[in-house]
Amino acid sequence: MPLYAYRCADCADFEIQAPMASVPEAEPCPECGTPAPRRFTAPNLSRSSSSAYKLIESTARTASEPAVVSSPGGLRPAGAGITRNPLHQKLPRPD
Ligand SMILES: [Zn+2]
Repeated sequence: MPLYAYRCADCADFEIQAPMASVPEAEPCPECGTPAPRRFTAPNLSRSSSSAYKLIESTARTASEPAVVSSPGGLRPAGAGITRNPLHQKLPRPD
């Protein structure tokens, strides 16, 4: 659900989450309770929500704090590449 900003005349700005279909034009202030009119803001296009920014940040983070893993990734476990098919015994072997 999108965030909508409201501004109380006496207190501070606050935000509520509301479904787009039922956005109230005024919302009671959480501090004093007086109805606060809706404040129109720019669309919340956060740079941190883009996947490109997440990739850049995670790549930069590996330089200073590499991820701790319990096993080397990408390597096959021992014995995983061995076939049990008897027909494979007849295949030519490297010298
Ligand atoms: Zn208030």
